[in-house]
Amino acid sequence: MNNKIKIGFIGLGAMGKPMAVNFLKEGYAVFAYDVNAKTVDELVAKGAVGCSNSGAIARASEIIFSSLPNASIVEMVMVEKEGVFDNCREGTIIIDMSSVSPSSTLKMAGIAEAQGIKYVDAPVSGGTKGAEAGTLTIMVGADKDVFEKIKTVLEVIGGDIYHVGPTGTGDAVKIVNNLMLGCNMATLAEALILGVKCGLKVETMQEILSKSSGRSYAMEAKLEKFIMKDDFEGGFAIDLQYKDLGLALEAGRENSIPLPMTALATQIFESGRASGLGREDMSAIIKVWEKITNVKVAGE
Ligand code: NAD
Repeated sequence: MNNKIKIGFIGLGAMGKPMAVNFLKEGYAVFAYDVNAKTVDELVAKGAVGCSNSGAIARASEIIFSSLPNASIVEMVMVEKEGVFDNCREGTIIIDMSSVSPSSTLKMAGIAEAQGIKYVDAPVSGGTKGAEAGTLTIMVGADKDVFEKIKTVLEVIGGDIYHVGPTGTGDAVKIVNNLMLGCNMATLAEALILGVKCGLKVETMQEILSKSSGRSYAMEAKLEKFIMKDDFEGGFAIDLQYKDLGLALEAGRENSIPLPMTALATQIFESGRASGLGREDMSAIIKVWEKITNVKVAGE
């Protein structure tokens, strides 16, 4: 082992695993834990030290990353008996990269602070491709001095790294981003159905819209890669996008801000889940419209 900071990683899924691998590639000692033992074994084969619970990660690491499905799992891993907080030393820094609510992060940061532990929200954008390439956009909510301490480490997994402001602001900007992504995706799906019904080919729409004012990231990332191939494997799951729209609605409620577009988009992703598409890429909501309207956009 070298004198680099000891990194702990909790949650080795689509995002967490490639991030942890990038730390190994840079020569960091990585301690890895996931409830799925298979994914821990895969990381051990690449040089990580496998841990059998989150407490063991906390005892071994100076900086602990978490990349977990939702806020209730993050909170459980942190506060459960023999979990992270029970086993952290004073001075440890926890960096949660999951997409969760600012209120959950602030609750965790309050508990951490009382123990002399720093708790940072650092959600990401860029998908599995960005995680593998080490080019994620990282949105950090932390005190300035803590941000300066972790910047070098974040550069291992990130391309554009932003210090957004104090704790919770990283989560806030991520929620705003994913609200826009979800609404833009919902709009794209219904627009394509209308276009086909009006006699347009999806290829024609793709060519012209990509040079016109209706274009969006949702279109750039999802139209050619998923919808035109009629293949929705991998990518960013409907379930995760639905969760993120829920975070936006929750933040809207907490701050008395109406979010009508978000509420509508949430129902469209709910329809995707009800149709059994929850684990497919978010662009698979087009299948809901295809079924209702009997219009096929691609793949025939
Ligand atoms: P994932 O479901 O692939 O991975 C989550 C991992 O957490 C799984 O390996 C699971 O076994 C593990 N896990 C669940 N409960 C656990 C527990 N109690 N203790 C330890 N491990 C546990 O999800 P993901 O796609 O990697 O996303 C992780 C987070 O990043 C989510 O909050 C998501 O919204 C966010 N995110 C995902 C993407 C993406 O493109 N997939 C992009 C940006 C942000």
